[in-house]
Amino acid sequence: MTEPRSVLVTGGNRGIGRAIAEAFLAQGDKVAVTMRSGDAPDGAFGVACELTDPASVDAAFAAVEEHQGPVEVLVANAGITRDTLLLRMSEEDWSEVVETNLTGSYRLVKRAAKGMLRLRRGRIVLVSSVVGLLGSPGQVNYAASKAGLVGMARSVARELGSRSITANVVAPGYVETDMTAALPEEQKSAYQAQIPLQRFAAADEVAAAVTWLASDGAGYVTGAVIPVDGGLGMGH
Ligand code: NDP
Repeated sequence: MTEPRSVLVTGGNRGIGRAIAEAFLAQGDKVAVTMRSGDAPDGAFGVACELTDPASVDAAFAAVEEHQGPVEVLVANAGITRDTLLLRMSEEDWSEVVETNLTGSYRLVKRAAKGMLRLRRGRIVLVSSVVGLLGSPGQVNYAASKAGLVGMARSVARELGSRSITANVVAPGYVETDMTAALPEEQKSAYQAQIPLQRFAAADEVAAAVTWLASDGAGYVTGAVIPVDGGLGMGH
């Protein structure tokens, strides 16, 4: 077992973020989660954070650093959807999603990079989506924000690689969480028919890819997009 690291997972109160936080906790890491509601998993340090507010992101990092030292592993997981067809998509639908998913991640990565540069090591994992690579009707805003994370991670990988900081993307397919619970049953079945593994993922299957990217074994992996999508996006 390596030394416990200081890990920060955004949106760790539920869904995929909670599963990621629990997986790091199970490894013995020091885990902080950002949350706007609900509670932190047992053993994690919960901190309030609103990604659309730069001051809130900064304050969350300060609290985490005070509690468990500079963030060595950042998992930018929190995200939202505001699905609707292009011609019905309002400026707000667009900007809320881009502001949360893409600009929020920029704020997190920039703030985390300060500490990582001083440490001369770090792991950054951005949670994107298969939709960022494949596109999806009704998700022009979401797909654009998730595709943007790939360009962000790859640029960060090039900027910070010389300091042993890696930046990678995990691109889940459909995962059983609140985000997909809202889908009508017929739509779920239609999606499942297109997935080679014929089912949605469990959140801990996404967490496994994230903890691997943060592990010693993935020390030479950077700028990668790791799909966890049952084969849905193969080739992209
Ligand atoms: P959930 O909807 O279950 O949870 C979203 C999380 O993000 C919550 O913790 C929520 O906090 C937090 N959050 C949302 N907006 C903000 C904000 N402005 N500031 C701070 N926190 C915020 O999502 P999932 O667990 O399903 O998804 C997690 C990530 O995985 C997302 O980025 C999503 O796009 C991605 N993903 C999900 C897939 C799926 O099928 N579920 C598929 C592919 C990718 P709060 O509880 O306070 O609202």
